This record gives sequence, structure tokens and C-alpha cells, in this order.
Amino acid sequence: MKLVRFSQGAGPARAGVIMGERVIALDDLVPGVPSDMCDIIADWDRLNTAVASQAATRAGVPLAGVTLQAPVARPGKILAIGLNYADHIKESGMETPKEQVWFSKHVNGINGPFAPVEMPKASDKLDYEVELVAVIGKGGRHISRADAPSHVFGYTVGNDVSVRDWQLRTAQWTLGKSFDTHCPIGPAIVTADGVGDPHALGIRCLVNGETRQSSNTSYLVFNLWDQIAYVSQAMTLQPGDLIFTGTPGGVGLAFKPPRLLAVGDVVRCEIDKLGAIENKVVAEV
Ligand code: ZN
Repeated sequence: MKLVRFSQGAGPARAGVIMGERVIALDDLVPGVPSDMCDIIADWDRLNTAVASQAATRAGVPLAGVTLQAPVARPGKILAIGLNYADHIKESGMETPKEQVWFSKHVNGINGPFAPVEMPKASDKLDYEVELVAVIGKGGRHISRADAPSHVFGYTVGNDVSVRDWQLRTAQWTLGKSFDTHCPIGPAIVTADGVGDPHALGIRCLVNGETRQSSNTSYLVFNLWDQIAYVSQAMTLQPGDLIFTGTPGGVGLAFKPPRLLAVGDVVRCEIDKLGAIENKVVAEV
């Protein structure tokens, strides 16, 4: 199943499910359905039956006539792992980490799958990182590797947009990873049963149609189950939390000379089974 948030015209964002080329609003299917995707995910065991059995009976609206929004608007946490593909570690001139390298992106960065991404006033060192993003379903702490798959609700595509000078001028990456608009995700959450093994997906990033990153999630250094087991020792994971699982080689900073983003560039991030997001770089006003 593919879950989205969408709006029509100036109307409010609603949660929906994609059926072919149409989208069915969840509040058409289940009276009183929560409006927030984190709450929907938390209540999914109850909602799933109604959505699965009734979605085909509704006309919905054409997908082409709606604006897709970030499928999770206010995740409780956006956790991201760095240096997690061998080719990206090599191009970064780093050693393969023995410990998982975690940082945070902040929720202010959440952005729609086809919305503009800002070139900030504070920097012109803007870069892209396509990443497989896991959406947590059932929460928990001290989750074992064996149990980790049962805590994943689904998957989406993310661009870990990075402001490289702000990221690397100090030991903390947080600010450089957390500018407004720099966390586009989408276009949908594909539920885990629709993806199967998350470690067998082609993953690509194109800038103005030119392939810059092309790899496969099978090359993750620490796989998703390792990641969930590790971070959940520290943090209780909650429904709707996002985990950015790392980016493969080919980021703009690694080219010699670097090929960072410019205003007007169009960045397309795509992953097998999950679809694509596409974001144009615009100047912050
Ligand atoms: Zn990243």
C-alpha cells in the first residue's frame, strides 16, 4: 500500500492511499481518522482493515490533480547515519567507521517531494544525498536485530540535503544538515509488505537529468536492522520517526573539482519500488 499526504488547491493536507492513478482520502474511508500521519501509523492495525477493504469502492481524485506533500509532516525524530556506503566513505577520504556515526536532521527541514529546496542566504555550498528512509511503525526501545523488521512501517525516498561548509566547519554536523526545506521526502510511504527486502533496492540521484549517484542498498555498511538495534539502545523509537540510512558515492563535494548545486538545478532522487522525488533549487528569499 502507498500512503501519501496531499492537498487540492488551497485546501488542507489530507492523508490518502494511492490506487492506480487516483488517490483516496482516508477520511472518506474511516470517519474520524487522525489527520496526522504519525497518529495514523500508530493506529494502523485498526485502520488497515478498513482502508484495504474499502479503498477500491471509492472514486477518489486523480493523482495528477493534487499536490503531494511530505508523507510525514511532523516526525518526532529524523535520525541519519553518516559514512554508510563503502564508495561514499572512500570519496570522503574517511576510514570505514567501527561505530555507527549518527546525527540529526531537524523537523523544520521537512519538505514536499516536489517542492523547491532553498539555496540559503548563508552559504552556496549546497549538496545532495539520495537515501533510503525507513519509517518506524511500532515503537520501542532495545529492539533486537531480529525484531527490527517488525518495527518498520514502510519506506520512502529522502534527500539529505547538506550545506557542506556549515556541516564541516565544526565537529557537529547538525546545523549543516538542518536548514529549512533541506529534508524533502516522498512521494509516498510504501508499506513494508510492498517492499520486501530493503537491502536490495537500486538507488539513484540525477541532477538536471545527469546521473550522479547510482548504487544499491545492498552495499550499506551497517544495514537497517543494525541501525535500529543500535539507536534504540539510546532512544525510544516512535511511530513516524524517520531513519535516513546513508548515501552512496557520487555526492557533489566528492567531484574534483566539486560539483555542488546551483540555483535552477533540478535534483531527482529515485529508489526501486518507492518512486522518485524531484526538487528544484531556488534562492532563499
Ligand atoms: Zn546523509
